[in-house]
Amino acid sequence: MAVINMEEARKNVSRVGFLDIEIDPTLDLFHEIERLKKEKNAILLAHYYQEPDIQDVADYIGDSLGLAQQAEKTTADIIVFAGVHFMAETAKILNPTKKVLLPDLNAGCSLADSAPADRFRAFKEQHPNHIVISYINCTADIKALSDIICTSSNAEKIIESLPADQPIIFAPDKNLGAYLNKKSGRNMVLWDGACMVHEIFSLEKITKLKVRHPEAKLIAHPECEEPLLKIADFIGSTTQLLKYTQQDPSSSYIVATETGILHQMQKASAGKTFIPAPPNNSCACNDCPYMKLNTLEKLYLCMEYETPEILMDEQLRLAAKKPIERMLEISKAAGLGG
Ligand code: SF4
Repeated sequence: MAVINMEEARKNVSRVGFLDIEIDPTLDLFHEIERLKKEKNAILLAHYYQEPDIQDVADYIGDSLGLAQQAEKTTADIIVFAGVHFMAETAKILNPTKKVLLPDLNAGCSLADSAPADRFRAFKEQHPNHIVISYINCTADIKALSDIICTSSNAEKIIESLPADQPIIFAPDKNLGAYLNKKSGRNMVLWDGACMVHEIFSLEKITKLKVRHPEAKLIAHPECEEPLLKIADFIGSTTQLLKYTQQDPSSSYIVATETGILHQMQKASAGKTFIPAPPNNSCACNDCPYMKLNTLEKLYLCMEYETPEILMDEQLRLAAKKPIERMLEISKAAGLGG
């Protein structure tokens, strides 16, 4: 329940994750957010999985790779990150002198949570001589235990950059890891983690949808499970899926990833039809509950009062920075822009 007192609201942030205060309902939040961006020299970075209103007010919308690249090159004083915790952490790792804000600290990630640092350290010790490639969807602690970070946009290039006989641990997403093993012909050791959003698509419902819409192409994110990927017409990162729908001549698509991306797909190809792939529960589409914790109201409040802020131990930051920098260098050399 919202409180009026600012001091109390600030104290509550560590418990509730955001500034829980009432906003004047007549306030034009779009206008206010634009005003705050200018006044504070702040940049608003938003992930494709954010709600449409947040995407529409953002300075840059992208997937994990694009957002990390934008965070690295920004000259703004404040980075407002409309995404989840590990993404804002990555921005802080790359920008220690800038203030990094996240509208709701509880915007976590089931995939990042599936790799606790102590268990991962022990796993790594069981596999000496292995290089650790970690998907960017992991905590700063896991990044610090990794040699190279990757995203779904650049994972193949990162793997290719290593000698063919180099043993590799891939963490934390086993579905993405299995897909990459198949594509690269490697035998990477996989950490047993997964994303709750991409694991719950219903193969049965999707098959029925394909029958009802024979003209529609099924496009899927590689975090999905193998049986779904097997029947997909195209597999790619969120950015690659978006580009595909812009360049491909088909008129309709069944989209197997978080539904937030449909907003940009629809904007870019107004005449096409985009059908969200259904999960195996009673919902018709698949939202990430963490991504959707951010709202326009929380975004406005965090910009106005510069809270909640991402803070990080300097030693951890430096250790987590090295594998991210390696990723950014390899991506740049491979011509993968953001
Ligand atoms: S969609 Fe999955 S991987 Fe992405 S933030 Fe949500 S839980 Fe994490």
